Order: sequence, then C-alpha cells, then structure tokens
Amino acid sequence: MDARPNLFGLDRAGLEAVLRELGQPRYRAGQVYGWLYAHRVKAIAEMTDLGKGLRDALAARFDLRWPEVSHRERGADGTVKFLFRVNAGEGQPASTIESVFIPDERRNTICISTQAGCPLACTFCLTGIAGYRRNLAVDEILGQVATVMDEAPRDGKAWNIVVMGMGEPLLNEAATFPALRVLMDPKGFAIPPRKLTLSTVGILPALERLAQEPVRPNLAISLHAPNPELRRKLMPIEEKYALHDVLDAAERYPVPRGGRATLEYALLAGVNDQPEHARELAALIAGRPFKVNLIPLNPAPEIPFAAPGERAIDRFCAILVERGVTVSVRRSRGQDVLAACGQLHLKQGEALAIRRRTPPAPPAPPAS
Ligand code: SF4
Repeated sequence: MDARPNLFGLDRAGLEAVLRELGQPRYRAGQVYGWLYAHRVKAIAEMTDLGKGLRDALAARFDLRWPEVSHRERGADGTVKFLFRVNAGEGQPASTIESVFIPDERRNTICISTQAGCPLACTFCLTGIAGYRRNLAVDEILGQVATVMDEAPRDGKAWNIVVMGMGEPLLNEAATFPALRVLMDPKGFAIPPRKLTLSTVGILPALERLAQEPVRPNLAISLHAPNPELRRKLMPIEEKYALHDVLDAAERYPVPRGGRATLEYALLAGVNDQPEHARELAALIAGRPFKVNLIPLNPAPEIPFAAPGERAIDRFCAILVERGVTVSVRRSRGQDVLAACGQLHLKQGEALAIRRRTPPAPPAPPAS
C-alpha cells in the first residue's frame, strides 16, 4: 500500500494546514476541498485550477485514494452491493465493509458503514453476529459514498444517504461526525440534511453531542422491541442505554426541517411481531413525534430468527395505523444480492468467526 497519507478525508482545517505548509494562500484549501468532495476527482493531477508546481508538491506528499472495491453484486432490481477491502491496521489482516446502492423511481439511496463489524451483538443482525474489527476512518466512510456515486447511472435523481450499514456510527464519533459535515456541506457532497439519515441504537452521550452540531442529519433509532425486557433479549446495549431514555433523547433531537425521527423495528416471527407487541408499541409512542419503519427480517442461516409472514406484517401495521401511528414497511430490496447488512461480507468467507446462535452476553460498555 502507498505509504503517503491520503489527501481524501481531510476537512477544511486539515487542508488549510497542508497548504499553509506549502506556502499557499488559504483559498487554495477551498479549491482542493471542492475537487475532493464536490467534483470527486480521482487524482491530484485532475485539480486543473492549481498550478502544476502545486499539484506536483501535493502529489509528492499525498496519495488520493478511495477504498478498494473487492466485490460487487448486482441485483435484478438495480441494487448493487459493494464489498470494500479496508486495511485492518498494523499486523492485522485486511477486513471488508459493505455499502449498498438502492435505486428507485424518485431517488438513489446509498447505505454506508462506519465500522468494520460491530461490537453491539444484536442477535438478529449478521454484522453483530460476525463481530467487531475496528472503526473506519473519515476517508473510508466518505470513500464509500464517492465510489458508489461514481459508478451509479447518471440519471439526475436526488441522492439519499443512510448511515445504516455495518457498525454503530455513534461509537465512531471521531470519524462519523467529520464525515457527516463533509457530506452535508453545500461545497462538499451537498447532501441536504433531510436526505441524510443516521441510524443508531441510541448511544446517549454521542447522540446529545450530535444534537448540538450546527447541521444535523435525520435520526433513526434502532428500537426493535416495545418494552425493555424484550429489547434486552434482542439488543444487549439495552443494559447500558435504556429504551425509555433513548426515546426521550430522540424526542429532544432537532430533526432537520421539523421532521420526525424514525423508529426502526425489525419484525421477527413469533418474537416481536404479535398483536400485543404492536399495541404495546403504539401505546409507548402515543402522542410522540415519531414514525415507525417496520423491517421484516431478511433471513439468513446464521440468524436464529425467522421472517414474519405477510399476514403478521399486515396485522402489525394495521394495529399501528388504527392507533394513529405513521408507519411504513421496508420491503426487502436486492435479496438476490444479499442486501441485508453483513450478508455479503459473510458470504465472501472472511475469517470472522460466527460466534454463536444463542443470544450473547452483554458487550463491554462502549467507551463514551
Ligand atoms: S443492528 Fe446495528 S448496532 Fe446492532 S449489531 Fe447490527 S450493526 Fe451493530
């Protein structure tokens, strides 16, 4: 691998420092920033409004690289799943992460990862089952978006970014926050905040800090159960950040343009998809500014749960609607390309041990 540091991934302040060292005026940093994140050039030589001397000086010190795509799978519905190879760090083997391109009639969505693996061990999630490697760096997060945009059809549709791939983004605040700023910067990727959604289990201190950011994305909370007891069985993080506290924090979160936070609820047959669960969920959020996204499980041999039947999904949805809850059902896209988080990564046979099929012990408390 190239030993030069990566220019891609530096924020404005970082670029200003680099250009200052090269004896350049401050506005040059803005030019380089635009080439990296608005134009998304793949080589310093393509930054054509910089003099050749400056381009050569930058190229002598820095590489410009996006993460390497190790595999792509294209589905019949246009979904493309990307597997990226990322360096695992000193003395460790390379790891892989996933991103998904999901086109529909009105918009193109990119789902990105923030960690290689995930330490939170949710029992219905392949990424959690496969275990944790490390946090991603800013260039690895932004590089997923740049790569998918570069390979997508030039169809003029609006972009939608969801931070819902591998990992818990609020356990990687140091890279996730700077990446969000560049994504939403009108002079960067220029994604409107309401078109960018961060999904979290509710790491409360980091969620409070995200709420203080000058520009914030939409928020989705991984809820998956209507009460703490059931959530604890599905999501060990409930021990540290309890459902009621997470909902209170989500209610306080300043969603862009007065929208509403989404509660994500994976439907697991016979576990959390019964009428009493729907009634309990409706009562839990009655009068609160949330909408619910139901996600029927995308089954896999490694996941110890089954997908609900259509009748159970319809019944659950109807009970919520009757009680005035705004609800949507996320129909699985790209099942033929294994689009559920962690599936392609596991299929590619990376040497991450599948640790268990029974619910795990609670994880070590996240550093926060
Ligand atoms: S659902 Fe999200 S937080 Fe839970 S293990 Fe999977 S990636 Fe991690």
